Amino acid sequence: MYDFHLHTRHSFDAEYSPAEMLAAAAQAGLREICFTDHVDFDGSGEAPADLSALRRDILTLRESGSPVAVRFGAEVSLGDESCTQRALAHLAGQPLDFVIGSVHLLDGVDPYYQKDLYTSAPKETVYRRYLECVCRLLRSGVGFSVLGHYDYIAKFAPYGDRSFPLSAAPEQFDQIFDFLVQNGKALEINTASWRDGPAWGLDVLRRYRERGGELVTIGSDAHTPERVGGRVGEAVELVRAAGIRYLATYEQKKAVLTAI
Ligand SMILES: [Zn+2]
Ligand SMILES: [Zn+2]
Repeated sequence: MYDFHLHTRHSFDAEYSPAEMLAAAAQAGLREICFTDHVDFDGSGEAPADLSALRRDILTLRESGSPVAVRFGAEVSLGDESCTQRALAHLAGQPLDFVIGSVHLLDGVDPYYQKDLYTSAPKETVYRRYLECVCRLLRSGVGFSVLGHYDYIAKFAPYGDRSFPLSAAPEQFDQIFDFLVQNGKALEINTASWRDGPAWGLDVLRRYRERGGELVTIGSDAHTPERVGGRVGEAVELVRAAGIRYLATYEQKKAVLTAI
């Protein structure tokens, strides 16, 4: 159906063109996609995407007659004040449809490079520390549409059971949900966090719903064509099982709801 989290060669960590990713989306039978290349000023040192170049590619693709609708987005790292100011300056003047706000660093380092992190404390403690960080940075002032991958910390965890249960950090989840609901922002189900293991998140989505959450987006976070649209069907089932009746997509930063 939809995949609202895709990277292209305009991201420092991907090498496929928007055209190649779009072809994979058409092949997967998707109806609408959004390219969300990285804009990271969080201290990771990676060059931000050239959004003007991405936009030119998207305009060309829209004229190509593809049956898949293509939206223009960005994934912005949340960080301190200077990170926020630089990100806002980078986004200025870009007619974006959608912005993902994501936390990629824990204590200044991507968890991907912190293998000791996961053995330093029980899983719940490690996961909670990440969400505490998310709680702090949510308010950083980047005008994002959706909080990206709340379970990023689980993606590279070495545990046999990497799932991120609500019970790991109930208070932090509630703080995040309250912020999202009060500010009209969405929660993302990021299917890449599951990698090739079992899906999770029903308990989290149910709690989000209980706190008044209604806006949910789904993204594969694909960096390669074979991952485009990956497991989005399972994500839709989770959203439905949690009692949420719509999926959100975005156009000109406004949520468009589709009944499921
Ligand atoms: Zn991310
Ligand atoms: Zn991403």
